[in-house]
Amino acid sequence: MIAYIGLGSNLGEREKFLKKAQQFMKEEGITILKCSKIRETLPYGYVNQPLFLNQVVEVETDLSPFELLERMQKIENMLGREREEHWGPRTIDLDILFYGDEIIESPLLIVPHKEIQNRLFVLEPMVELNANCIHPVFNVTMITLYEQLLEKLSKD
Ligand code: ATP
Ligand code: CA
Ligand code: CA
Repeated sequence: MIAYIGLGSNLGEREKFLKKAQQFMKEEGITILKCSKIRETLPYGYVNQPLFLNQVVEVETDLSPFELLERMQKIENMLGREREEHWGPRTIDLDILFYGDEIIESPLLIVPHKEIQNRLFVLEPMVELNANCIHPVFNVTMITLYEQLLEKLSKD
């Protein structure tokens, strides 16, 4: 299955954490097919914290969505993510953005990630990697979601 993982880091050697996370993914049976550029972005939520580096990778895996989540959390733990404060500073954050075109809504896992449509730091790299990828809930492409968000932000 093709999946997209969003990576974020805003503590310590941010670039190193992005790289390490990808290395660990490979060791967990996840093949990285494509990587977006790394972008520096303002933190979401609490603004009073260091800038994030964000990236999205396209991966191929035989893991189920829940196995994939479990591996992402394992990697977060290995890279020393300690604080579980929602939207707080972290060495690494690994979000499952898409898992094929599956729609999953469980207490532990929501796929597609529920904030994709609201985040430029996700939509920009998704457009870069696969502009015509269709969001299975909204039934529109990444480029459309990106344009809609730009439009919305320009009105705020
Ligand atoms: P956000 O999800 O808004 O980006 P966050 O990444 O800071 O916020 P976390 O504290 O990392 O949130 O995760 C909280 C919980 O979200 C995790 O324990 C996990 O069970 C759940 N979760 C639900 N859907 C997903 C998903 N698609 N990818 C990763 N975690 C998810
Ligand atoms: Ca996140
Ligand atoms: Ca997360």
